Amino acid sequence: MNDRIIFSRPFRAAAERANLSAVLDSDHSHGDGQFTRSATAKIKAITGAEHALLTTSCTHALELGALLLELGPDDEVIVPSFAFTSAATAMALRGSTCVFVDIDDATGNIDPAAAAEAITERTKAIVVMHYGGVAADMEPLLALAAQHGVAIVEDNAHGLGGTWRGRQLGTIGTVGTQSFHDTKNVHCGEGGALLLSDEILMGRAEIMREKGTDRARFLRGQVDKYSWQDIGSSYLPSELNAAVLDAQLAEFDTIQAARHRVWDTYAAALPDWAAANDVRPMTVPADRGHTAHLFYLRMPTEDSRDGIIAHLAERGIVAPFHYIPLDSSPAGLKYGRTPVPCTRSAEFSATIVRLPLWPMLSEAQLGRVIDAVTEYRV
Ligand SMILES: *Cc1c(COP(=O)(O)O)cnc(C)c1O
Repeated sequence: MNDRIIFSRPFRAAAERANLSAVLDSDHSHGDGQFTRSATAKIKAITGAEHALLTTSCTHALELGALLLELGPDDEVIVPSFAFTSAATAMALRGSTCVFVDIDDATGNIDPAAAAEAITERTKAIVVMHYGGVAADMEPLLALAAQHGVAIVEDNAHGLGGTWRGRQLGTIGTVGTQSFHDTKNVHCGEGGALLLSDEILMGRAEIMREKGTDRARFLRGQVDKYSWQDIGSSYLPSELNAAVLDAQLAEFDTIQAARHRVWDTYAAALPDWAAANDVRPMTVPADRGHTAHLFYLRMPTEDSRDGIIAHLAERGIVAPFHYIPLDSSPAGLKYGRTPVPCTRSAEFSATIVRLPLWPMLSEAQLGRVIDAVTEYRV
């Protein structure tokens, strides 16, 4: 029996243990110490973001974004039906209504035409999730947001270092969020970041992230005591998390090169089999630089998708499906509305399968996955 090939294995960076020891040996393991500063500088260098704040998760960065946009019960936020729960629940926590819209079949990202149709007087923001680190079709989305004066929230959990027409994902909208969960390209177990370009929003975000206090200004010597300034929560990670994250970010280029090696191998090996079996492998539009976060196959039917998952499982290969559409989920029905049925989202969700993709996947393991996939007959 061959060894099992798992779907995702967290990367381990060389300096993690030394960084952790440095924190443990110091008298500073709460947030905003040297590793937080160093990791934040690396995130700004990768993305070119004007401002970045580490958070305890991408979900918390999205909650912070919802606070910054002053979302309330009278507001609507347009959310793609095919997305992770985090953005939707961050909006619902503010009492806002999620208005679910369909996706673009080519990328799995929000369909700008569907977003345009869903705009009302109450719309305050549009959530854009760059699926697999492939940018959404930003030009019409930016035009739509400008025309109606609404914000764009980029859930860029998959897209650190990804680009749209040369612009860095996470820095195009009003608010950008990153995830450092251990299933993501760069991780610290659990963690995230908020990216901002606006100085005023940054000033507020810093306060909201620190229990509503101006402690950050106090630590910089800008005020002589710190006090309650605004609503907020505790969204800053400890130095232990930042120590691991800083070590990972130091190897960002190595991680990305290793992931692209796997992605490119799948992309080169599968087209003939795919064409013969009516399967569509993941593609990336020419004006976008992707992050090799995932590689998926669009199977022709739900049955053939379930079939290939079972076929691969029998050969010791873990290949999962992905998001269950938000619009028809129990909380989606309760906290959202869906003006037009999201049929492409439902079909995308029912027909995709993701192949194992992590940096240390060996050539032999990759060969086994490719052999097993190309043995399958739809
Ligand atoms: C992982 C993920 C999140 C949540 O990230 P956390 O850091 O675990 O909160 C949000 N959105 C997308 C698209 C994700 O993949």
